Amino acid sequence: MPHTLLLAEPRGFCAGVVRAIDVLDELLDTEELPIYAFHEIVHNRHVVESFRERGAIFVNDIKEVPFGSRIVFSAHGVSPLVVEEATKRNLRVIDATCPLVTKVHLESRKAAKDGFDILLVGHEGHDEVVGTKGEAPDRTTVVDTPKDVFDLETTTKKKFVVTQTTLSVDDTASTIDAIIERFPDAEIRNDICYATTNRQAAVRAIAERAGLVIVVGSANSSNSVRLQEVAASTGTVSYRVDGLSDIDPNWYKNVDIVGLSAGASVPDSLLDPIIKDLRMRGVTKVEPVIVAEETIEFRPPDNS
Ligand code: SF4
Repeated sequence: MPHTLLLAEPRGFCAGVVRAIDVLDELLDTEELPIYAFHEIVHNRHVVESFRERGAIFVNDIKEVPFGSRIVFSAHGVSPLVVEEATKRNLRVIDATCPLVTKVHLESRKAAKDGFDILLVGHEGHDEVVGTKGEAPDRTTVVDTPKDVFDLETTTKKKFVVTQTTLSVDDTASTIDAIIERFPDAEIRNDICYATTNRQAAVRAIAERAGLVIVVGSANSSNSVRLQEVAASTGTVSYRVDGLSDIDPNWYKNVDIVGLSAGASVPDSLLDPIIKDLRMRGVTKVEPVIVAEETIEFRPPDNS
């Protein structure tokens, strides 16, 4: 049974998630219900459920929202078509899109205006990718892997490359290498955010010392899934769980050191029961493994 727990630092909430959660939290405290949110405010089951219990209504189609309602756009961002429809419906929007996602939208919009074809490295169908692609849908192709890049048709149009913010740093590097090989003139922006980069470095650091790594985060949280993959890539057995109830105590058999991390949409309160449980099972040493100090904060969005 384990005697030591390594805590990845940083882990859990990033500045963009804190900002989005604070917006919805304040609206639920101060305004009349119902309050709508377009898509899950952040990709975490527990966070979304707790807001739902307080009266938030999450929608995936803006046309479901009654005219004149209050709505929050999630941290993942939305396409211009959604903004247009919200305006038509006279919705009172607070846009909690993470500023680092907005930056990718602006890069794509400008590249399209300048006549580039855009390659968006990311996962097709992910909320953030749908929103970014919406800036220039006719000019944007989503590529996920080097194979996707080699399958692209040859054109003479200049390429502009942007990325989803929450990708695996290593996997993205190989996809970008493939793009450079096929399109040596491509202009490349690597938009993987500071929070994703730091959390992946921290989970790698604990995975290199632990016999087992547990990553807390929901299945639809891209950055949480990537953390589990990064930990597994070191050869250490790794699981992604939503919380304590998903953990099988048999995982701890013959393990001396356990590592624990959490995706950027996960509150520390979901880790506390896991830490308590490990202490009851004999863990006597809890050691933070710090790879970066984060001081970034984003200013709240305009209230319209
Ligand atoms: Fe913003 Fe990065 Fe957090 Fe996404 S993971 S909300 S891009 S800081």
